[in-house]
Amino acid sequence: MSNFLRPVALVALSVLALACSEEAQRDLERAALEKVGDLAAARMAESGDSGADGRNHSRDFIDIPVEVRQLADNVWQARGVGNTHLITTSEGHVVYDTGLSTQAAKQRRLLLEAVPDLPVTHVVVSHSHADHAGGAKVWLEPGMELVAHHEFEEEQRYLKELEPFYWGRNRMLFPFMPEEPPTIDLLAYGGLEPTMTVDQPNVLTIEQGGTVFELLATPGAEGADNLTLWLPKEKIFFSGDFFGPNFPQFPNVFTMRGEKIRKPIEYITSLNQVIALEPEMIVPSHQDPIVGKERIKADLVKMRDAVQYVHDRTMEGMNAGKTVYELMEEIALPPELQMTQVHGRVSWAVKSIWEYYATWFHWDSTTELYPVPRSALFPEITELAGADALTDAGEAHIAAGRNVEAIHLLEIVTTADPGQRRAQEALRRAHVNLRDEAIATTNNTYEIDWLSLRIRQIDELLGAEG
Ligand SMILES: [Zn+2]
Repeated sequence: MSNFLRPVALVALSVLALACSEEAQRDLERAALEKVGDLAAARMAESGDSGADGRNHSRDFIDIPVEVRQLADNVWQARGVGNTHLITTSEGHVVYDTGLSTQAAKQRRLLLEAVPDLPVTHVVVSHSHADHAGGAKVWLEPGMELVAHHEFEEEQRYLKELEPFYWGRNRMLFPFMPEEPPTIDLLAYGGLEPTMTVDQPNVLTIEQGGTVFELLATPGAEGADNLTLWLPKEKIFFSGDFFGPNFPQFPNVFTMRGEKIRKPIEYITSLNQVIALEPEMIVPSHQDPIVGKERIKADLVKMRDAVQYVHDRTMEGMNAGKTVYELMEEIALPPELQMTQVHGRVSWAVKSIWEYYATWFHWDSTTELYPVPRSALFPEITELAGADALTDAGEAHIAAGRNVEAIHLLEIVTTADPGQRRAQEALRRAHVNLRDEAIATTNNTYEIDWLSLRIRQIDELLGAEG
């Protein structure tokens, strides 16, 4: 070796050594993460269920085992709270969705054990939610592309900046969650920088090893940054969370934990885009694949028509001068468009669509414009009417099956004086009745989890009072 080349070789060797140690370092980190993930899962599994009906619906997802299954010749899925997919080609693998950060190391190891030893070239995230993009950092290595929707970074930004706000709310609804968000870099939310983005109405086509990947910007469902994957030769549609956790279902064009408003017309446009593909298999990032071209098409059309129906009836009602409450009461899916409301609820979609177009000033009262809520007057009302009289009236509403009216009255008393035991007990009964009704009708998981949260809070208060 010439004197000239020796320093170059030395640099190359040290770079290689550094690279090796970085790779070894990453493997060590992933092995450690897998242990952390197992511990987190065990802790969540042990933490008691919420609610007197013994059921918090999100628990079902935690109980899904992390295991790998093959869905097609070139498609592998690691199951979990959020599924992770590996599409194999002779020139490397493409990852679609990365699951929760705490499950990603195990999902990755099991997937890579199942497929030929080739590099991963692309990591595609369906949207910015932590149960889909959370594991991306576990996969990403220098040279890999991170593919996301054009709006991904903005969605990730606000979800990260409001992390304490959302974490607190999530934890109230889902009490099995850890108290604080994880801080270890690979587990923490956020910080992803896509190297390729897709904006609607464009489709990004990637050809690799004879496989065609079409990435579609399909916003509207679980956020503005939905990116779905279509394999045109295989006729498989990877939907991420585009349909929500069930298929078909009335979609959640609103989410109880809060998040930016979801745009109904964008969702309808996106559904039309998917209908035109004529998929033979849908692979969602939650739960199981759906197979059958005709069935899929019929269900897609039904979902689209249901959203369109609720949207149009809401607009008509607004034009006719009806209040949002009248429309929430009135608008229902016709028999031919009936579908489960376990995730999205028609009356909440009505309210969301109303507020999407007209925002928060409902023109009901001048007081809406000023920072003095009605509850500021609750102590005064309680004193004027008397806590006992209000509680009696609340109990009479409950007896007549008017639980929401009862809550209106009883909350005047319990807000003014949380120590009013009879009012608290009646308030609890009204919530239990509403929950029984929810279970017997829509079985909407968010509604049930919310009512369980309120019941739990009243129980804690009553317990503390002794
Ligand atoms: Zn999800």
